[in-house]
Amino acid sequence: MIKNILPASCIILMALFSSCSVSNNPLRKEIKGLQKGTIKDDTSYVYALPYEAGTKHRIIQGYFGPFSHKERAALDFKMKRGTKILAAREGVVVRVKEDGDRGGWNKKYRPYGNNIVIQHPDGSRSGYWHLQFNGALVSVGDTVQKGQVIALSGKTGYTATPHLHFLVWRSSGGQWQQVATRFQTSNGIKYLRGWKKYQSPAE
Ligand SMILES: [Zn+2]
Repeated sequence: MIKNILPASCIILMALFSSCSVSNNPLRKEIKGLQKGTIKDDTSYVYALPYEAGTKHRIIQGYFGPFSHKERAALDFKMKRGTKILAAREGVVVRVKEDGDRGGWNKKYRPYGNNIVIQHPDGSRSGYWHLQFNGALVSVGDTVQKGQVIALSGKTGYTATPHLHFLVWRSSGGQWQQVATRFQTSNGIKYLRGWKKYQSPAE
């Protein structure tokens, strides 16, 4: 008896990879409910898309995606190198790495992934990964506004293609936990899904 029906994207990938496991993390199921609207959420913070007003980017890997997000509540936005990255929420910069000068589709490149982490007023944090070499435009300790340009995108670290890896953590009981968040798009407030393109509202 088949107990679990694999998502369509997984079945396609099974043709390409020898194994295709699906995470048992309960957060994966919760995010699906939020995306479909079967779980209602109209009180949580609404993030800005991390790129310029009026521009569009495709999610090439969504939450718990099949490549490098099997256990991650993170989003990959396809982005040409040098694209301006904007803070999705205001806060204080707590981490900057911009000396990584290489990247590729191999875990050995992971330590080279340039990144910025911002701590928000409620104690949660968001991270922006794979930034261009010397592509950080802010420093640790800086206060940044929502929508401020903070970095230039790139392809450093463990990645096959230039993109922005974005994720949010919340601290619960002393442990950092990744979470999905709502975004303001030109089409309303949404939980983003893999393979779809989202436009930041025009100013
Ligand atoms: Zn990613």
